[in-house]
Amino acid sequence: MASSIEQIVLEQTRDVADFPSPGVQFKDLSPLFASPAAMRAVVDDIVQRHRGEVDLVCGIEARGFVVGAPVALALDVGFVPVRKAGKLPGEVLSETYALEYGTATIEIQTGAIQPGARVLLLDDVLATGGTASAAVSLLRQAGARVRAFEALLELSFLAGRSALEDVPTHALATV
Ligand code: AMP
Repeated sequence: MASSIEQIVLEQTRDVADFPSPGVQFKDLSPLFASPAAMRAVVDDIVQRHRGEVDLVCGIEARGFVVGAPVALALDVGFVPVRKAGKLPGEVLSETYALEYGTATIEIQTGAIQPGARVLLLDDVLATGGTASAAVSLLRQAGARVRAFEALLELSFLAGRSALEDVPTHALATV
């Protein structure tokens, strides 16, 4: 029997204890990114939910780029990166959000998004939802209509979905 997309994502994820800091179990999706069959299954799964429904795909630095670019290409729409502060040249829009300790800032280039554009936002892991909800605010600042947020893997015990209440949210696999 063919594997479900959830099985594929879970089988291709490596758990790394105490990375990047003690007590964190890091979900390493490198095995998935290294497998053309798994990547094809992931991209096909995301694409069939959004074909003809979005004008643009945005990915969150850095692993959101790995999934976002092939999804954008398959949907025949453009890709716009949401980057950490200081990486993008020229004029940018930015959004600062709270982390467990301190704050972080993400940016997009001014003019990268047409007002009213329907956007699919992608990342690898949905943890607390802080990053994804800041990215949604950033995209809305630019006038985008955020149609959906998708992550390959959701850490349900961190309840990140509650930070994204007003955006349809989907994960290919959940732990
Ligand atoms: P959060 O803002 O807490 O939802 O964290 C989401 C961002 O941090 C994503 O861009 C993930 O790549 C990364 N991240 C957070 N927790 C983990 C984890 N346990 N394993 C892998 N990546 C994580």
